[in-house]
Amino acid sequence: MQPGPNNIGAMQDWQLLVTHLIDHAAREHGEREIVTHWADGSETRTTWAGVRRDAAKMAEALRAAGLKPGERVATLAMNHARHLVTWYGAVGAGGVLHTLNPRLFDDQLDYIVNHAEDRIMIFDAAFAPLVERMKARWPTVEHYICFDSAQPAPAFEDWIAAYPGTAPWADANERDPCMLCYTSGTTGNPKGVLYEHRSTMLHAISGLQPQVHAMDCRTVMLPVVPMFHAASWGLPWLGAAAGAKFVYSAVNDPVVLCDLLRREKVTASAGVPTVWLSVLQHLDAGGDTLPDLKQVVCGGSAMPRSMIERFMGQGVRVVHAWGMTETSPIGTTGAESWDWDDRSFEDQVTIKSYQGRVPFGVELRCVDLDDPGKVLPRDGLTAGALQVRGPWVVKRYFKAERDAVDADQWFDTGDVAVLHPDGTLQLTDRTKDVIKSGGEWISSVELENAAVGHPAVAEAAAIGIAHPKWDERPILVVVKKAGADVTDTEIRDFLADKVAKWWLPDAVEFVDAIPHTGTGKISKKDLREQFRDYTLEGAA
Ligand code: AMP
Repeated sequence: MQPGPNNIGAMQDWQLLVTHLIDHAAREHGEREIVTHWADGSETRTTWAGVRRDAAKMAEALRAAGLKPGERVATLAMNHARHLVTWYGAVGAGGVLHTLNPRLFDDQLDYIVNHAEDRIMIFDAAFAPLVERMKARWPTVEHYICFDSAQPAPAFEDWIAAYPGTAPWADANERDPCMLCYTSGTTGNPKGVLYEHRSTMLHAISGLQPQVHAMDCRTVMLPVVPMFHAASWGLPWLGAAAGAKFVYSAVNDPVVLCDLLRREKVTASAGVPTVWLSVLQHLDAGGDTLPDLKQVVCGGSAMPRSMIERFMGQGVRVVHAWGMTETSPIGTTGAESWDWDDRSFEDQVTIKSYQGRVPFGVELRCVDLDDPGKVLPRDGLTAGALQVRGPWVVKRYFKAERDAVDADQWFDTGDVAVLHPDGTLQLTDRTKDVIKSGGEWISSVELENAAVGHPAVAEAAAIGIAHPKWDERPILVVVKKAGADVTDTEIRDFLADKVAKWWLPDAVEFVDAIPHTGTGKISKKDLREQFRDYTLEGAA
């Protein structure tokens, strides 16, 4: 490396490569454990040193299998230590890790694997039927390896055992790609987001901050967020930087999760609200608590107020985060404000129910929904289309012909939000889900959040129904909690002091289940389809 142009000195050429993360973890925190609870109920323990050793072996196995720089290595797997090994092994071989969501539909998996041109596929035995079903539709995949069985493909441990793991990591540049994740694609085909070493490293370093994951080597982290969704919120990368202990569970059963949280003295966890609902229900049923748990990071969809109250009431710090696959995924986190301690508990809960503020590196703005050239004030009132930019935000989707950002690098998130004067983000909708009644916007998200606060409501979704006078009026679709009963009027009475009067749903419809997307979000598209012919009383 040459010194700087003025020859007055220069700093070292230390590329921001994710392989530095695992080298650091193995060297500085080599003894720190990675625990796995497997699908068959067995448990194994390795360490960051063990993960590095196996990743180096895997990198050699991949190169022996003919993997070339930049080629994709796919995984179809739940959370476990071998999956973690592949994150570093694939990248260490110069490849690109591609985590596949096994909950997607066959046609989506067909499209994604072919679009990504995956070369190697490493899967859990639990997904063997899926692999057998799809194999003929995945012509680019040349090698299949199974994580936890020697059938129907070579077992992962046997495959890597033949290699010493002594070769150096593949040469890479920090702007080289390291990971590929596809968005859930509620409309059109899924889109690939290709993360670079540099974007991943900056995201990981940022994630260590107190206002994000606040992670260090004393942290015991149980990531419930799947390793196949949105880079598992970056946790496998920043966990290595921190040298934290990780506890993985290949099953999402609340009984198993509560047992692990207690037994392994887990201090921090991260997952979507539905997971926490089932964990809290299980704790309530057994009258149990989690004395070691200090922090819960929750995102992916809005965290209900009742859940925030519940955690905060037990002294657990709640970090309500917003992000998307396109933002690596951390965009904002609900960190405490400087005057936090002067605020009432009620106020604190309200602030935590918003989506938080940006960490350094991310910029947000809202623009007018009808006139994107008009930037909206941060007044805590005006809802607009949320845009984001920063070093870990997508610029162009994988293989796309055009950038996904405007000339100033702003990426339109598809979310609708209000920005408060202090920069706090409050998500009110998806652009495609907003309900427009009498020329005014109604936030379906706020209606839903308020409704799930009712003790008899398990899940709620608001959609707009065509109305001759008002254009659209909201209806609320509700799934009752098992054994609970509630009427349309009781729900509307409950909402009356929580939302504006004209936001109150014109009807409440009770259903057994609300449709979800492959990533567990409410599928408004399917719900609208379900209620396509619905007419409101007096509106026909
Ligand atoms: P995905 O790329 O699958 O992670 O989906 C990203 C989308 O999830 C965002 O654009 C939001 O619509 C939604 N989302 C993420 N976090 C939150 C949150 N804390 N509250 C409400 N919606 C969220």
